[in-house]
Amino acid sequence: MQIATLLKILACPKCQGDLQLIGSSEAPEGFLCTQCALLYPIEDDIPIMLESSAQPYNKPKSKVETCES
Ligand SMILES: [Zn+2]
Repeated sequence: MQIATLLKILACPKCQGDLQLIGSSEAPEGFLCTQCALLYPIEDDIPIMLESSAQPYNKPKSKVETCES
């Protein structure tokens, strides 16, 4: 089954929220639940939808906006 299809049918086991694909469709890294900030790993095209296997996911820090006036 394709990752994009899995993405549509799978939900976070913790909060039942929508998941976001991290990585590319050819080389998926995992499914991210933005609400829980947990990344569920994908191994050999099989998503591991277990809370115990999920890793905390830190968003890339966005630039702090500074006032330059
Ligand atoms: Zn969640």
